[in-house]
Amino acid sequence: MQTSPEEGFFDEGDLVGVLTTQPIDRVLDYRAPEGGCMLGQFVEVPLGPRRVLGVVWAQGRGDYDLSKIRPVSRVLDAPPMTEEMREFLERAAAYTLTPMPAMLRLGTRAPGLGDPPSMRKVYRLGEGAPDRMTPAREKVLGVLREYGGLSFTLKELADYADVGTSVVKGLVKQGAVREEDTPRDAPYPLLDPDLPGKALTGDQQAGAERLRAGVRSGRYGTTLLRGVTGSGKTEVYLEAVAECLRQGRQALVLLPEIALSSEFLDRVRTRFGGLPAEWHSGVTMTERRRAWKMVGEGQARMVVGARSALFLPYRDLGLIVVDEEHDTSYKQEDGVLYNARDMAVLRASLAGAQVVLASATPSLESWANAEAGKYERIDLTDRFGPAVMPRMRAIDMRDEDLPGARWISPTLKRAVEGRIEKGEQALLFLNRRGYAPVTICRACGNQIGCDHCDARMVEHRFLKRLMCHQCGETKPIPEACPSCEAEGKLAPVGPGVERLAEEVAGVFPDARVAILSSDLYGTARQLKAQIEAIAQGGADIIIGTQIVAKGHNFPLLTLVGVIDADLGLQGSDLRAAERTFQLMRQVAGRAGRADQPGEALLQTFQPEHPVIRAILGGDEEAFWAAEAREREAAGVPPYGRMAGIVLSGTDVQEVFDLGTRLARNDVALRRIGAQVFGPAPAPIARIRGRHRVRLLVKADKGAPLQAALADWAGQVRLKGETRMAIDIDPQSF
Ligand code: ADP
Ligand code: ZN
Repeated sequence: MQTSPEEGFFDEGDLVGVLTTQPIDRVLDYRAPEGGCMLGQFVEVPLGPRRVLGVVWAQGRGDYDLSKIRPVSRVLDAPPMTEEMREFLERAAAYTLTPMPAMLRLGTRAPGLGDPPSMRKVYRLGEGAPDRMTPAREKVLGVLREYGGLSFTLKELADYADVGTSVVKGLVKQGAVREEDTPRDAPYPLLDPDLPGKALTGDQQAGAERLRAGVRSGRYGTTLLRGVTGSGKTEVYLEAVAECLRQGRQALVLLPEIALSSEFLDRVRTRFGGLPAEWHSGVTMTERRRAWKMVGEGQARMVVGARSALFLPYRDLGLIVVDEEHDTSYKQEDGVLYNARDMAVLRASLAGAQVVLASATPSLESWANAEAGKYERIDLTDRFGPAVMPRMRAIDMRDEDLPGARWISPTLKRAVEGRIEKGEQALLFLNRRGYAPVTICRACGNQIGCDHCDARMVEHRFLKRLMCHQCGETKPIPEACPSCEAEGKLAPVGPGVERLAEEVAGVFPDARVAILSSDLYGTARQLKAQIEAIAQGGADIIIGTQIVAKGHNFPLLTLVGVIDADLGLQGSDLRAAERTFQLMRQVAGRAGRADQPGEALLQTFQPEHPVIRAILGGDEEAFWAAEAREREAAGVPPYGRMAGIVLSGTDVQEVFDLGTRLARNDVALRRIGAQVFGPAPAPIARIRGRHRVRLLVKADKGAPLQAALADWAGQVRLKGETRMAIDIDPQSF
């Protein structure tokens, strides 16, 4: 059959353009191999002496010596990359100013891509009978009879029967056990969207119907699903997932925190009768391979994952839910700098899919997009059941009588005692891991810092080590000051959750205390077990960092005490108000559920601060409107455009000089009316021994920022180990 390249098929010998994952930022020419190849197919091509992975990206250009063009080595046995996916990668690369090979790497991060499906041997009950029975053989056959339809791997079967593998092999020889080959990548269970869900309330029902209608339209659209914690956002968007499954399309639910997913997975199983595919850093290589393949074949219909799940090769994506859409972990800050929330909107617009952005405290970006009519908006104003948002009050720390190195005010202490007496739970929230944020030498005043970063070492008493929260480096807590060598003079300053726990033990000697801090649990499962124990009443006082703010349900919790409500307001970051507002409202939302009224107490030294007043006042629309006015006046996102250029290197002077030269040669930027600020030390001025300097570029909303930045940055010749990273829409500015 004769097929033209327009239809995406190349005959043997045709010129094809292949994009590889190697750092060469152009599509390279090859000849189609024997049997031809198709646009989007994964291939192996020769590059110098090696063979590398690539994707057939375009027609070849043939703009150099045709006799030197080599053929594609091999077409891989994987579903071709869809046109939608290729366009997504190109648009994402253009937006984030990322070279295409790096973007392609994000989209091909599957181990063993294209290997033939690996087979494994499984064992079932056979027809034959063994020549003689032994107790060990009896055990094996007993297990197989008991679990009728199941097949076991050799090791599983031997383990279950508690015998050696040779016993099983003996039975295979005699035909009493059957050995079969099956593909290793088992399909995912079919999910049933029509299992009965919960009976939704009127508001929930109306919201669900709007989302379902969006999914049914088969077109792109984004909806901001806003509702206080516990209002049933998850119930509502699971109905959109159900509709997507009914349409036979694929649904992706992005979650910010891996630790959360097990609780979420339980809900998916209850609603749809099976587990979805998972994609995040905690998933094994084998499982990833399976997910990548099954998503690509369209077999996996629902994926739950972290931000990189956005780059899986969906056949037909119909819905992307971004849960806790305001969460900062959606921004990838290493390698390719992208915001998964924004890229979800891009991908959905190309795939004709719906996006649901769910949050109790949306980002100002999403709020503004809803205001401007670009996004739909659904509000769930009531908590499920009779509970209401907790009563919120400030504790003015200037009036509290508190000795040094103590953080629980008498007012907070009384409130906690009142709750414990009634058999309820109190949460003390402090967003600081470890024992103390600073270790200071009382002899010379030296603060122990990281050797590689511009950060203080944080004492972790449980680990008996100091840790850098920037690079993860740890070292033993020294006896003597590393600077003046005085012995026994090092002292902790300020509280972390571990130190707060120490104070709690002294103030509430009879209370049962649990600490929830991400670093104290080796695995997600341990964390989950702890959360479940707490939910069932296994603690009177919970001490927690940020992870408690993210959607765990503690039915007995009625009081939240924020140890330091001022913590996030320091510094000059223009987003500080938004972040603090979100975090405080999220944390307060933990208190009170079902028919128990909740209360939140914020310890603060500045109760008259506008942000603290907004948090207490609870008029969210007013807060956002005020925030929006300030950002608009400053011309910053979402009302203007920003980009950060981070230069890094080992020689601080060289890095600064480069920054200064760049800032002076700003013709390309002035042409679009953009302004350059800096160079200044980056928010993290040194990481792993590399100095970092940042320039900030600010432009009008409609300005062609990427093109100007590419021109501008293109004039820099980076020497030696100097690096440059461009961060479109930086998190802090
Ligand atoms: P959110 O995602 O807004 O925090 P959830 O969907 O997690 O809210 O709902 C909070 C709790 O209330 C969950 O335990 C959920 O199962 C329950 N819930 C919400 N709506 C209903 C409903 N209509 N019927 C029964 N339980 C509900
Ligand atoms: Zn460090």
